[in-house]
Amino acid sequence: MDKLAMLGGTRAVPRDHRILPWPAVTEEDRSAVQRVMEGGRFTSASSGETEIASLEKEWAEQVGTRHCVAVSNGTAALSLALAALELEPGSEVIVPALSFIASAVAPLHVMAVPVFADIDPLTFNMSPAAIEAVITPRTRAIVVVHLHGLPADMDEITAVAERHGLAVVEDAAQAHGARYRDRPVGSIGRVNTFSLNVSKNLATCGEGGLINTDDDALHTRALMARQFGELIPARGERSYVSHALGWNQKPGAIQAAFTRSQLSRFGTDAKQREANVRALLDRLSALPGLVCPATPGDRTHAWHILRFRVDPSAFGLPDAYAGPVRAAVMRALRAEGVPAAPYQLMPLPHQKIFRERLGFGGYPWALPSARTPSYALDGFPHTLRVIEDSFTIQKAHLHPLAGELLTRYADAFEKVWHHRDALAQHARSAPYQSPWERADDIAAAEWEATGL
Ligand SMILES: *Cc1c(COP(=O)(O)O)cnc(C)c1O
Repeated sequence: MDKLAMLGGTRAVPRDHRILPWPAVTEEDRSAVQRVMEGGRFTSASSGETEIASLEKEWAEQVGTRHCVAVSNGTAALSLALAALELEPGSEVIVPALSFIASAVAPLHVMAVPVFADIDPLTFNMSPAAIEAVITPRTRAIVVVHLHGLPADMDEITAVAERHGLAVVEDAAQAHGARYRDRPVGSIGRVNTFSLNVSKNLATCGEGGLINTDDDALHTRALMARQFGELIPARGERSYVSHALGWNQKPGAIQAAFTRSQLSRFGTDAKQREANVRALLDRLSALPGLVCPATPGDRTHAWHILRFRVDPSAFGLPDAYAGPVRAAVMRALRAEGVPAAPYQLMPLPHQKIFRERLGFGGYPWALPSARTPSYALDGFPHTLRVIEDSFTIQKAHLHPLAGELLTRYADAFEKVWHHRDALAQHARSAPYQSPWERADDIAAAEWEATGL
């Protein structure tokens, strides 16, 4: 086997094997955008606009809900979904300790207190038991994230929610098209959200988000919330009457038309991606101590992000070396041309907006009706461990023609694994800082540089 690229050997992934751009843009996508340019109706408030309404209808059909509301982005989708639930200020909303920051700031946007639940280290999703353990008399909702594209344990979580009278909100930003016990994600909670960000499996040319629900009242409230509290008639004049607290989170018609065009290929792209990723994982699952993403038999994976854990015992090192071994593997893979990268450097509760209760100048925590939950790191051991011993591959595998590139990635993993002894040596001697300690240092330096 060749010398590691990290030590001066030849890369396993030749430089001309580039990551294919995502989202892929076709002639059909361009003409969809052109259609809007020529029609001259650019937002959901433009009388006679049809692209947005059509996307809403098509996505509602795809997910199997009665309604869909398109909005400006996935974070707005989540904030407006929570706003539609009309939680009283100081309510608690349970969110996973491992997710994108948006999942946890959306409750703050509606003056609710995020309470974090630890994850299951096999699925990376909140475990029903961890959810139940943090429920208090103030809990009103659970934001369930299908992290990386794998649906969470929805039946068990729904049962917990029903026992305690809580609303379930699916944050399906990473899981378009995934199915849980034959139901599409986004159809299971009371009101559910997707992102159409350029990084996601169903993308737009810019920013966008979608809200799905079967509930007529929540649908109407979400429509009002995105448009200043107004109801915009499909035809005829705008009344300018504001019925409720509203935002301006309207979607753009260009983005809707682009996504409709992407949606026409979504199923075939997903099938091809599934085949490409399966072929990669089939090879990687033979490597000792590399823990590939799991897919329980009762659900499908959307493969938005691939997360791999590393077991230090396969490198002849004790458990305390989990972080250093992962760091050495990442370094070696990157040198070979595999874009191994972290996704989240710290559990969300460790972000200073929560830890220091920044929010709206100390609110919602300072409300007389609110309570301050613990945001201390020691409450989230599984999240910490996963952040320490795992890395991800993002974006490179999304394009349906990425199969060839993923074959080279598999070569690189096999080469790196062949050199486990050298990596163990590296892990033992290289200086090491945990990702969240590193993030603390970065946070301090970035803040210092603002001069605020
Ligand atoms: C991307 C993402 C969001 C936010 O979507 P945006 O469109 O970027 O605002 C929310 N939750 C999760 C889990 C995400 O990955």
